[in-house]
Amino acid sequence: MDEIEIEAKRDEDGKLAVQVRDKHPPATDEEIFICKGKVAESRLRIRIMFPYLSQIILAMGQRYSDKIERAGVDKYGRLYLYAPWMNSLTDSERDAIIMHEAMHLLLMHTERAAAINAEHEMYNYAGDFAINSILRANGVSMPEGALLPELAGFPDLRSTEEYYALLEEMVEKNKDGDGKGNKKGKGMQDRMEGQSNSNERGDPNGDDGSGAGGREGQWEEEGMADALSPAEQQELRQVTAQAMREYSKSRGSAPGGWERWIDDILGPPKVRWDKRLFRVVAAALTEVKGRTHINWKRPGRRQIPGFMLPAKHSIIPQMGLFVDNSGSMGDVNPDHPLGKALREAQGVIEQMNLPSVWYGAVDATPNFEMVQTRNILKEKLVGGGGTDMRLAWQRAEEMGLHILILFTDGYTPWPETDPGIHSIVVITSGDESTGVPDWCHQIIVKD
Ligand SMILES: [Zn+2]
Repeated sequence: MDEIEIEAKRDEDGKLAVQVRDKHPPATDEEIFICKGKVAESRLRIRIMFPYLSQIILAMGQRYSDKIERAGVDKYGRLYLYAPWMNSLTDSERDAIIMHEAMHLLLMHTERAAAINAEHEMYNYAGDFAINSILRANGVSMPEGALLPELAGFPDLRSTEEYYALLEEMVEKNKDGDGKGNKKGKGMQDRMEGQSNSNERGDPNGDDGSGAGGREGQWEEEGMADALSPAEQQELRQVTAQAMREYSKSRGSAPGGWERWIDDILGPPKVRWDKRLFRVVAAALTEVKGRTHINWKRPGRRQIPGFMLPAKHSIIPQMGLFVDNSGSMGDVNPDHPLGKALREAQGVIEQMNLPSVWYGAVDATPNFEMVQTRNILKEKLVGGGGTDMRLAWQRAEEMGLHILILFTDGYTPWPETDPGIHSIVVITSGDESTGVPDWCHQIIVKD
């Protein structure tokens, strides 16, 4: 799907000459050679102007690719560049691109997007807003078309999660809008939607790869050459944040946005647990409801020989809420983290308009009581006292549930294999539990 440019003009004799040009031709060896030189100059300039970025700039692998539209980064910290485009930029713009991609890594966009189960494209936009507004506040000039928050009518220098929330709100508003809504917002949304088909080439102003919390680009390399492991990336973040703190101390004050950036790097992702719970459950419900389409291809019950009738029922997601009601959990009162978590869960049930859910306390006996209800807060937990939460999964499988939410303090053995059920573990003791299997979403209830 190479883009082409067609130009028709008449020559001196009045004959029509049509020229077809590829707007994205493969880079020549010479262009790559020139680009390498320019990138080396950029890296040196960045290290002089922003010394604290030295380590990350030097650590990132470099790839020159014709598959990418402009520039991108993968989750292994490798920088991908399309040489002809890079060569067309000014020095300062080239510096901006390299710093921009490095900042996706520094800001942990891959991990943070996964933590909130973010929609890739939208998250990438949010990340670009955050990065570009910090870079601009530090006097870096942006290439044409760079994504800046004012394009969507958003304020400057906010965190990626804040921009993500603003974008979500905007998309929500425009969905049932009457056309009068935020014009800038509508434009942004069109842009997001328009880009969804063409972003496999990566774009600093759209979806710039798995290292940016975006989708994995077609241009991303499969091997592990020059790959930075998650631990190495984490080390680079720490070193960079430390160097930044010292730099700003020596200057008396930190220039615009750096402080927030340092907090961002050193701090955990600042997404409230209740928002995450809602998002994770909503995503699971959407996925289960989406399975209806598969049903279309299966023969219906009243199948006429030779014909495929679509199954008429759609899947109603079956969700089970299991409570670890062991002695260490305390009472289910509204101030207790478990009480708060259950209230949030009830909120999700109402907002998602679920007809009912299954609810019960995990007992030491495999057949503990589960009730079907619309309002878990009205139900009194019967039984309990179990300490082996694997029984929750066993029960969920027996009941054919699609989604399992377990509320626990985390002191329990865990299933060894992924049972293929959407599993959400809500930890009510306030601390991260180390044993939770990685196929579960872990949500820690905190104030
Ligand atoms: Zn980006």
